[in-house]
Amino acid sequence: MWLVTDFELILAAPRGYCAGVDRAVETVERALELAGAEPVYVRKQIVHNAHVVAELERRGAIFVDSELDVPVGAAVVFSAHGVAPSVHENAKARNLAVVDATCPLVTKVHSEARRFAQRGYTILLIGHAGHEEVVGTMGEAPDSIVLVESASEVDALDFSPDTPLAYVTQTTLSVDETRVVIDRLRERFPWIEAPVKDDICYATSNRQAAVKALAREVDLVLVIGSRNSSNSCRLVEVAREHGAPSYLIEDESAIDPTWLDDGATRIGITSGASAPERLVQRVVQWFRARGDVTLSELETVHEDVSFALPRPIRRALALVDGPAPGA
Ligand code: SF4
Repeated sequence: MWLVTDFELILAAPRGYCAGVDRAVETVERALELAGAEPVYVRKQIVHNAHVVAELERRGAIFVDSELDVPVGAAVVFSAHGVAPSVHENAKARNLAVVDATCPLVTKVHSEARRFAQRGYTILLIGHAGHEEVVGTMGEAPDSIVLVESASEVDALDFSPDTPLAYVTQTTLSVDETRVVIDRLRERFPWIEAPVKDDICYATSNRQAAVKALAREVDLVLVIGSRNSSNSCRLVEVAREHGAPSYLIEDESAIDPTWLDDGATRIGITSGASAPERLVQRVVQWFRARGDVTLSELETVHEDVSFALPRPIRRALALVDGPAPGA
């Protein structure tokens, strides 16, 4: 029988949706509204969260693995993680009405990779093999990009000083681990060029900084996010590295009560950049059903980033609603 306990829940801030995810989810919602009875296809998971995908599916979105699975001439939304140029070419050949919801911060990494490749550089892409963002970025210049996953992999590389070298990174990596890989690259290849601005995005950095502060204050950190969400997995690792046991949970049903067996009552909660806030509130309710809860927030930085919707959606909305005020 569960004993009633006092829980102190501390929510990390910032947490949850970033500007790129917010934009991508709203893009599909708006596309569904605008399409009416016409189908809207989405290539891959729009963002890496099972709840978000299930909800959009319920509202009519049809998720497919490849643009080649979309019927000729139909509407398709590309996910926030970005796609290789070959995907755009396939879509064009199939006469698809494309709405590209690639996060502008991923697009920035694609542009950097393209620019370096055009200037004859070999590009070391720090990232995780198979992640959709990495697949998309590598597609920009497949013959010029070498994937590097860790500092030990850097040791296996060999370039002469007359090889122009640059690095770029996936946007959702661990800030600290990436620093180690970059330091090793600079040690081995001092002439290597960096991107103009860090590729790890503001949302990834801010959520990691927040979970570091949180981990120092609590007995346990719960990270809400899906297993294929890179930035959510990194939050668990960062919390553990900073002294708190930590678990990734899809939602409240994944909480294992034995995690609280050794008297954990100060619980930190955060969520990955693709996890909706409603899941945080459901986790809070899970604790409320089991004891008295004091709730607070630990804010490390205030975020106010937002991105405009993709142009085809803005244009279609302007036709329906009339131009936005001041436009
Ligand atoms: Fe964009 Fe960063 Fe969000 Fe990815 S995590 S969608 S790069 S803002």
